[in-house]
Order: sequence, then C-alpha cells, then structure tokens
Amino acid sequence: MQGLMQEHPLLISSILRHAARHHQGARIASVDANGRMTRSSYPEVAARAAQLAHGLHRLGVRRTERVATLAWNTLPHLELYYAVSGSGAVLHTVNPRLFPEQVAFILNDAQDVALFVDASLLPVLEKVADRLPASLRAVVVLGEGHPEAAPPALSVPVLSYDQLIAGESTGYDWPLLDERSASALCYTSGTTGEPKGVLYSHRSTVLHAMAAIQPDVFALRALDTVMPVVPMFHVNAWGLPYSAPMAGSGLVLPGPKLDPVSLHSLFEAEGVTFSAGVPTIWTALLQWLEAEPHRRFAHPPRLVVGGTALPVAVTEAFLKEYGVSILHAWGMTEISPLGSTNSRKAENAHWSQEEFLHYSRKQGRPHFGVDYRVLDDAGQPIAHDDRAFGEMQVQGHWVASGYFNRAHDHAFTPDGWMRTGDVVTVDPLGCIEIVDRAKDVIKSGGEWISSITLENLALRHPDVALAAVIPVHHPKWDERPLLLVVPKPGCTPDAQDILRIYDGQVAKWWVPDAVEFVESLPLTATGKLWKAEMKKQWRGYSLPG
Ligand code: AMP
Repeated sequence: MQGLMQEHPLLISSILRHAARHHQGARIASVDANGRMTRSSYPEVAARAAQLAHGLHRLGVRRTERVATLAWNTLPHLELYYAVSGSGAVLHTVNPRLFPEQVAFILNDAQDVALFVDASLLPVLEKVADRLPASLRAVVVLGEGHPEAAPPALSVPVLSYDQLIAGESTGYDWPLLDERSASALCYTSGTTGEPKGVLYSHRSTVLHAMAAIQPDVFALRALDTVMPVVPMFHVNAWGLPYSAPMAGSGLVLPGPKLDPVSLHSLFEAEGVTFSAGVPTIWTALLQWLEAEPHRRFAHPPRLVVGGTALPVAVTEAFLKEYGVSILHAWGMTEISPLGSTNSRKAENAHWSQEEFLHYSRKQGRPHFGVDYRVLDDAGQPIAHDDRAFGEMQVQGHWVASGYFNRAHDHAFTPDGWMRTGDVVTVDPLGCIEIVDRAKDVIKSGGEWISSITLENLALRHPDVALAAVIPVHHPKWDERPLLLVVPKPGCTPDAQDILRIYDGQVAKWWVPDAVEFVESLPLTATGKLWKAEMKKQWRGYSLPG
C-alpha cells in the first residue's frame, strides 16, 4: 500500500517562490566590482529572474543546455542561479581563477550556449576568446566594469544584462521539471589532470539546502543575515544561495573585494550574523583585527570554515577575543559540497571549551543524507580508534554518481560509493580527521606519514606564516618529508628551532629531514596548497647528509 501524500518535485524554482512569498522583508545587499552597493529583496529577485528567464528564451536557450557564468558573488549572479536552473537549463559556474587553458577546456567540455561575464572579468574572457566553443550563441556582460575593459572582438553577439532583460515580463511560469533533471554544473579544480564536471540535480540541490539549514550544520534562520564569502563560482558558494532563501535569511553578496577591511565593514554595516569562507579569509581577518585593537564586532557573527584545515589557534582567538564561533566543515565539489561538520553531540556535550577547541581541528561527523566508510589498503574497514588511516568513501542524496561527459571514473566504486581521495582517521565518536590527500601522503619505508599533521604542527611555531610538507626522493626510504616554510613578515626563523616543534608530538621517523624557507607557496584556483606543483618544483632535491 502506498502512502496517501502529495508529491511535488523538489525544484530550485520552489525555493525562490517560497522566499518571495513568505520572506518579503528579508534584505539583500550586493557589492559590485566597482564597490557600488545595490539593494534588493526576494520578490525583486524573483521578478528579475523571471525577466531573465524570458531573456534566455529570446537567446534561444533550451532546456538542458548549459549557460556559463564568469561572475562574483553579486545580485545578477543570484538572479542567474534561479533563472537558468528554474527554466530548465543548466547553470555552469566557471572559476575565473583557473588557468586560461582550463577555462577554455571546461567551456568546450560543457558545450555552453551562452556566457554571462562580469565586466570586471572581461580580461579572463579575452584570454580564451579564440578558443570558445562552437556551441556559444551569445555573451552577456554583467555590470559596468572598468572603463578600459571593453568586450573582446567575438564572433557571437555581445549584449548587456540590462538590454537582455529590459521590457520582459516580471512573471514567468516556472516549469514543473523532473526533480532529477540537471540544474547546475561545476568543475573540480583539476590540479592533477583535466577538470571534471559535477552535474547537480534539482533534487540533490534542494535536499542539500535543507540539510545545510539544520541546527548542527549552518543553523540558518529567517532572522539571519548570511554573507557567502565562499564563491558562487565554485560549488555554488556551499549552497548558500539556495539555503539562505529557503530559510528566509537576508543575503549580503560581497562581490570580489574580500580583504579584511571590506569584509569587516560589511559585517558591521549590514548586520551579518553568519558567514562562510576558506581559512585564508578568516586568518587574514584575524590578523587585521589584531593589528587594529579598536575594531570589534558589535554583534559577533557565526562563521563556518572549510576547504582546507584552519589552525586551531585561529578558531581559539576568534572565540576568546571576539566572541566569534567558527564551525569546521568538510566537503568537496562532488558532494555539493557539504559532507560533515564538527558540532557537539551527546558524547562530547560535557567537554570543556578548551577540550572542544582542540577537537575542532577535526572535520566532524556526517549529517543525515550522507554517510561514509573508511577502508584500508586491503579494502577492509579501519578501526575507529583515532589512529588507523584509510581512504574515505561517501554515499548520499547529494553525492555525485559520475562525472559529466565521462563514461566511467575510478572515483566511483562498483557498489555505489565515491572515493573522496581523502585519507582520514576516525575516532570512537565517529568524527573524521583528514590526515592527507591520498596522492599527497608520504610513503617512507612502506609506512605512511601525514603531511597535514606535520604542516599543522609547523604552523604552531610563532614565526611560521604558511607551511607545506612534500615528499622528496630518498635512496633507502623511497620518500622522506621536506618542510617548506613561508616565514611571517620580518621573521627569520631557524630551521632547527622549527623542527623542535615536533619533539614528543610525532614519531621520530615522521620529523621532516629538511626545512627550506620560501617567499610563497603555489596555491590552486580554490586556494589550497598546490602540492603537485611543489613536487614538480622540488623534484631532484638532495636531502642533507
Ligand atoms: P573541492 O572539491 O575543491 O572543494 O576540494 C575538496 C577537497 O578539499 C576535499 O577532498 C579535501 O581534501 C579538502 N577539504 C575540504 N574541506 C576540508 C577541511 N575542512 N579540512 C581539510 N581539507 C578539506
């Protein structure tokens, strides 16, 4: 016997319809590339998304066709999120920080039919102008941009966003799509090969947004004002453009200026209560606050961090000095991206603040809707003893089942799990801690050394700004760790002094064989340490002795 309940497809258009009907007072603020602020509301976003959907039809965009964006976290980008997916086309967000070769590759791989580009990003378009896909029918420029940035000469029509939507009706009948149909496409950074496309569905996106709102995840409420600092061009700003309107929260879209001064002034002026960003954003904000002792938060916001590990010292300083709590989250492009958060539960509810701060270095536990298993080299589940390592695999409602345009990929197991490539330990509470990327662990004498553990310890040294540990060839042990350090400005730390930080913290054979001081470290387009490039740079390095 079947249940007697209504069935409605889980559609992205339903999120905006809800916000526009029931959260008309929620405020939206958006800063463009020129620093100009625009204000809006969900009814206005809905009206403009409708105009845009008509405009897309005029451009000839049909269902399932891909519409690319090269844009910051701004209001027009939010309108595109809803107009493109809502009308049945696929929103393809492109990371403007990728190399031109990669941008050209993914535009062609996606076979985009239209490209919406922020005027300030026209130089990115210029670099790929001769490699645009033959499928492209129009380029639409968002915002006014810099006077010197004129659209490059293209073989397709170029028009402005305002031209496209002007005169269109503010009403649109959002189609009742199959909830499993594709809604958005985002490519992984592809630091070791071609980027791979992850194709989200309406259903996965709506379920992911509902999960994100939960109290132990982002805890979003209608009274919140949410500022996504994580980019809308990569993994949909962790789903915040969907979860914030679903919760009825206000939105502050900060545009491209993400320096501490700009962000702090938005936190204060717009009353931001919740924000999400990668470690470099929050670390820079903390350093700036420490240098400007009179700056505080009138109402301390809640922050979420993820993407790479954040030193516990930063979480601690935010909490103790500024009353700002930082929630540690883990995720990846392939899982929309949220997989786990480190919130308390029954077993650690009674822990002291100090104990929990130390624990917050871990990536947390899954929420309903995703699950993990961790297998060792022999394919057996590892012990949840906080020591055994293994590769984490995930499964769930918003986890990819394959890559766009690829027949099969090794990442997907025959029994329906996705290999994350993250090597983790699991503790008796079920909390994961990433110890490495599978391809970055250092294999010394047949044993594994966690580069991330060594990096986190190095960051405890007061003179170390940035640290990376990479393997270098060793005739006897195969690989040994080399520690690369960017010193803090004005500091000249001593190598032996840094290595003393490992005394008693790790096994002796884990201690790096050498330290090299560098001015900077290569980062990927999503701001992570680019180990593949470092390994290339330091190939052939001779270890002392
Ligand atoms: P991306 O697909 O670009 O979002 O990258 C996903 C990868 O980032 C994951 O597989 C992890 O290796 C890494 N990552 C994400 N969140 C964290 C975190 N909280 N701590 C450490 N690494 C993380």
